[in-house]
Amino acid sequence: MAMMRRKLVAGNWKMNGLVKDRDFPSALSDALDAEPRCDVLLCPPVTLLPLMSSHKPDWLQLGAQDCAPQASGAHTGDVSAAMLADLGCTHVIVGHSERRTDHRETNEVVKAKAQAALEVGLTPILCVGETLEERESGEAESVVVTQLLASLPRCAADKIVIAYEPVWAIGTGRTATPEDAQAMHAAIRAAWPGDDRDALRVVYGGSMNPGNADSLLNQPCIDGGLVGGASLKPQDFARIIQSAR
Ligand code: PEP
Repeated sequence: MAMMRRKLVAGNWKMNGLVKDRDFPSALSDALDAEPRCDVLLCPPVTLLPLMSSHKPDWLQLGAQDCAPQASGAHTGDVSAAMLADLGCTHVIVGHSERRTDHRETNEVVKAKAQAALEVGLTPILCVGETLEERESGEAESVVVTQLLASLPRCAADKIVIAYEPVWAIGTGRTATPEDAQAMHAAIRAAWPGDDRDALRVVYGGSMNPGNADSLLNQPCIDGGLVGGASLKPQDFARIIQSAR
């Protein structure tokens, strides 16, 4: 019998949010008419984590958008996974395509970051995804599976989350069709190098909004969403959360 995986809806605020936005968790609570039926995670910029961790509902988990691959030491400007855990984070995004592009993060670096997160008990949300060119040339699945296997640390399937984020869909208003996303999620699960693949959560990211969330989130292999722009508005984020059943 297929395992029921609890869905995860995670907001990625990227480089947005100031101290004045510290009360977003209460605004999100107010926008929801009932407690969420899925796991809910918010990844604000690191500057807001201490402010939000002391004032949030229990059902809301906090995560970061990146961590250093090293545990500590002379790495000016970096934030370690242990520092994030110390602030109450449960998750950290690693290998987002914006970091792979802006900071030239390689699969090896992403793998080291995911490993550093696992070592302190954080759940890495490991992002993979193809470019438009790769999709149009019919290589999407092989590109994504290759990227996944090269950035994946050795771990149990329930200790990590994979985010399938087609690069052409991030922040563009274009989304993968539910059928294409479902097919890619099934391919990712099939490629998981262990016999515990039923426990692996694979979430979709790329212009998810209140209008398309329902059809994406209710595909059998789509275990939640990683939401950028729409997570900045409490009403929109709440509607996406309510779409996850
Ligand atoms: C993201 O940053 O992970 C993302 C999916 O962004 P958006 O929802 O804005 O496309």
